[in-house]
Amino acid sequence: MGHLAAPLDELIAEYGPHLQQEPPGGFAARGAPERKVQTHCCFCGQQCGVTLLVKNEQVVGVEPWEEFPFNQGKLCPKGVKRYLQNNHPDRLRTPLVRSDKGFARISWDEALDQVAERFQRLQARHGRDSVAVLSGASLTNEKAYLMGKFARVALGTRNIDYNGRLCMVAAGAANLKAFGIDRAANPWADIANTDLILVTGSNVSECSPITVDYIWRARDRGAKLIVIDPRLTPIARTADLYLPVRPGRDSALMNAILHAVIRLGGIDQDFIGAHTHGFDAVRDTVARYSPETVECLVGIPAHRITQAATMWTQAPRTMLLHARGIEHHTKGVENVLSCINLVLATGKIGKPGCGYATITGQGNGQGAREHGQRCNQLPGARDIENPEHRRHIAEFWGIPEPELPGKGATAPEIIEMAQRQDIRGLLLLCFNPLVSLPDAAFTRAALERLDCFVAIDFFMSETARHADLILPGSLHEEDEGTVTSTEGRVIRIRQAVEPPGEARRDWQIICDLARRLGKGEYFDFDSPRAIFDELRRASRGGTADYSGISYEKIEQQMGVFWPCPTAEHPGTPRLFEGGRFSHPDGRARFHAVDYRPPAEDINEEYPILLTTGRVVSQFLSGTQTRRIGPLVAQCPEPRAEMHPRLAAQLGVTEGALVRVVSRRGDVTLPALVVATIRPDTIFIPYHWPGEQSANRLTQRAYDPIAKIPEFKVSAVRVERVVA
Ligand code: SF4
Repeated sequence: MGHLAAPLDELIAEYGPHLQQEPPGGFAARGAPERKVQTHCCFCGQQCGVTLLVKNEQVVGVEPWEEFPFNQGKLCPKGVKRYLQNNHPDRLRTPLVRSDKGFARISWDEALDQVAERFQRLQARHGRDSVAVLSGASLTNEKAYLMGKFARVALGTRNIDYNGRLCMVAAGAANLKAFGIDRAANPWADIANTDLILVTGSNVSECSPITVDYIWRARDRGAKLIVIDPRLTPIARTADLYLPVRPGRDSALMNAILHAVIRLGGIDQDFIGAHTHGFDAVRDTVARYSPETVECLVGIPAHRITQAATMWTQAPRTMLLHARGIEHHTKGVENVLSCINLVLATGKIGKPGCGYATITGQGNGQGAREHGQRCNQLPGARDIENPEHRRHIAEFWGIPEPELPGKGATAPEIIEMAQRQDIRGLLLLCFNPLVSLPDAAFTRAALERLDCFVAIDFFMSETARHADLILPGSLHEEDEGTVTSTEGRVIRIRQAVEPPGEARRDWQIICDLARRLGKGEYFDFDSPRAIFDELRRASRGGTADYSGISYEKIEQQMGVFWPCPTAEHPGTPRLFEGGRFSHPDGRARFHAVDYRPPAEDINEEYPILLTTGRVVSQFLSGTQTRRIGPLVAQCPEPRAEMHPRLAAQLGVTEGALVRVVSRRGDVTLPALVVATIRPDTIFIPYHWPGEQSANRLTQRAYDPIAKIPEFKVSAVRVERVVA
């Protein structure tokens, strides 16, 4: 993208030691590495294979891992520079406690004793649920499993959730409703072998760059490409058909495409009859959404909608891909279901080169939502409200079923409960809600009301600055484990170096805390492998069945796709082959979706739609990537991206400061004037904190089922800043 790079010396002056730079001459100047470790990138859900170069017990560089089948050595800018996070001067190395004079060093024993005592005191006074746990979707499967067990068995609280609540949950809920399982239906190899790719709500070139390689391979074979997005993203510029949907109107558009497909005779009645339930209600609903009826609503001429339907109907094999662009909405689940309706109605799923996937965002966006760190879930993707599932896991953990807490609050609800002081204590692991949750001013106020706030992290995130105690945990390369990539492929994370200073591995910290809480017998783990062994046994018989997966099998097969229920089972790269879905009767479910407007729409006072998202050089709340010099140089600050027509109305030129105002707050940023965005919409990336935070503007409005925030639609006004 066309973000301007500020002079590097200015940046260094601004950030001081917080920017890790490459040595002169690049990492090659450091000489030959002492060893090479094949592992995976620590950032997005693609989980590209990388080779880390280690010298003097530090990660000093990176090389391609060409044999790993997913990315075959290719990396995006973040993967190439990720090695610079290791040995970073900002790395937390000792436990810290807040005092009147700021943070002070404290021993591990004192820190852990304090955490246990303070949480126990709060629970004795305010009840067990008054202490909550918030964890991350970049954690390994082992840690995700451990956090769920720790919250429910060691703390005995129902209130545990994770930051995938801001990322994957709308897709997950819709997948579960429609298919009975929450996983990408196809391996990425199917993208390369299809005839038409429909990408909706995904800036794949910046957010999941290696997926673009699969799209190019399909294009080289002659596949067509349709892109639906309010911004003419890099991938949209290459599309055969681009549909610039107005933010918040996705389900109306998808209903109209299905309407046109039905009109064209493109539905697969045999597939619908044999493998699904509920099509009649969908057909009746979409009958009201002709392209001509919705064209003004969605901002796309009717003939273009019909063209999309024609292309979909004519392609023998199709792949529909989506991501946060349709999921970050108060109707995120409905948007995803409207996509699934199109796929099911045309029978285009469960075959080679033909299917559907949601592209995960966070590093373990898939696995972290399967092993029990969600408020409504137990290991194996079991339902915490299902009596049979509860009995199974309680028995497996060796606790009476009534002692297993029930469904708790979601991550945004936990912050709201903290603000009301219904939650008094919080344990946070690798989550930066002050930057990533909507309405940042509210989040800050809520954190300040906590009686005891403990953060485990490797860098001092903006949120950790508000903690009473900070425990230095481990970076990706400082521990072992597994993650599950966007494809549903379980892969190995290998340790390259030891945690520095007094920093400890996250799982060791959690097990130590459990012992101090008097529950050590349930957390007698001596390695991630031991945790994985318990995890896979706990998952047996669940939807996300990992019981046939071992570290050795992952090594041999370069990853294993779940479900994998026995040691002999090869894993399941493609789901739903033969039209058998994961509901008990084997049939998929249609869900009729009626369009609902966004929670907040434009009016005279706030006439512009704001949508937020990512840039290629930064990742999520930026805790890591904002500390890596070459990545910051690529995109040093957020900019308010707007169409030249809007810029002209405002009297604004490229680089001029604009003030963007919503009902929650305001930010002042330079304008980025581009013809690649709808004139009624502005875009701001959300990776920055404080005065530059896009989430000062966004709203606390959530999908009623998934509780994902509506990051993609806020009403704002834009003002020129007069010097
Ligand atoms: S950020 Fe994602 S696409 Fe980029 S190298 Fe890492 S895993 Fe691959």
